[in-house]
Amino acid sequence: MIIVLKPGLDAATEAALCQRYGGVLTSIDASRVLLTGNDVSAPLPEDLGYIERTVMNGTDIQLAARQYRSEPRISTAGNVLIGEPNSTVVMGGPCAAESEEQVMQTAEFLSGLGVKVFRAGAFKSRTSPYSFQGLATKGLELLAKVRERYGMAIITEVRDSGHTSEVIEATDIIQVGAKAMYDHSILKACARANKPVLLKRHFGATIQEWVQAAEFILSGGNAQVMLCERGIRTFESKTRFTLDLGGVEWLKAHTNLPVVADPSHAMGHAYGVAGLARAAMGQGVSGLLIEVHPHPSRARSDASQQMDFDAFRQLYSSLQNLATATGYRII
Ligand code: PEP
Ligand code: MN
Repeated sequence: MIIVLKPGLDAATEAALCQRYGGVLTSIDASRVLLTGNDVSAPLPEDLGYIERTVMNGTDIQLAARQYRSEPRISTAGNVLIGEPNSTVVMGGPCAAESEEQVMQTAEFLSGLGVKVFRAGAFKSRTSPYSFQGLATKGLELLAKVRERYGMAIITEVRDSGHTSEVIEATDIIQVGAKAMYDHSILKACARANKPVLLKRHFGATIQEWVQAAEFILSGGNAQVMLCERGIRTFESKTRFTLDLGGVEWLKAHTNLPVVADPSHAMGHAYGVAGLARAAMGQGVSGLLIEVHPHPSRARSDASQQMDFDAFRQLYSSLQNLATATGYRII
């Protein structure tokens, strides 16, 4: 249950309420709010004088629930707003920053098209310890150069607690990768950060578990959370994962968080990325995260799914046409 407290309660009263109901006490906009588990179904009559309103939604999806707040939450990265009605922000770039030449060539190409958010991993989360793990700090330096030279906002991922603050400091949007979705030390560090967070869905997580991970960030004081659907593991093996487009509809109907789709990791093959991207755009997602590489076959990670420049140019122009037809803006 969400218990919005009356303004001006003293610390001892707040602490006593927190003690009585359990849960997390936090500040949201100008209010003090107590977030409890679902075992609390109603406040005690003697506490009603301390309480402005309560919201009971029957699940631990609380701050993210439309029932609590129906206006969409907007994330701000540089001068790019993600989550505004009728707009889709395209975020593109290689899976990993590999070299200065590869990063700058891709940024020049994308910024020339009008793309405003550049993605690339510096600390890569890989399934094998023997695969390329990313350029680490050197990668972050290359991303800083992209921001400086092209004015693009940067999104890059936090892989583990060894470099959480370094990445948070360097990036404009913190990407929490699929495998890190369950990492509470990363989620809590994101909660304390004053930057938007793109939280990818673990490939084995239900929507409930995924949005609860978002609640760790929201309840810790960071309201700028985006949910990124990147495909879940199903019995199907022809595609790398299965993009849960029905799940996107559920999130749009029940949560107040911007939804971003990542067709690249879901499909796993460059040929299908454009079709999936247009499908998600047709659903009105707030953002698309797409892998683009100057020479995909030479990529050091996710080679088969990265689009080359020609394919991305065609996709971008078809997204513009789709946007015109549906009354959307591509940012
Ligand atoms: C990525 O975005 O390059 C990535 C590693 O994605 P995911 O965490 O979804 O696997
Ligand atoms: Mn990748």
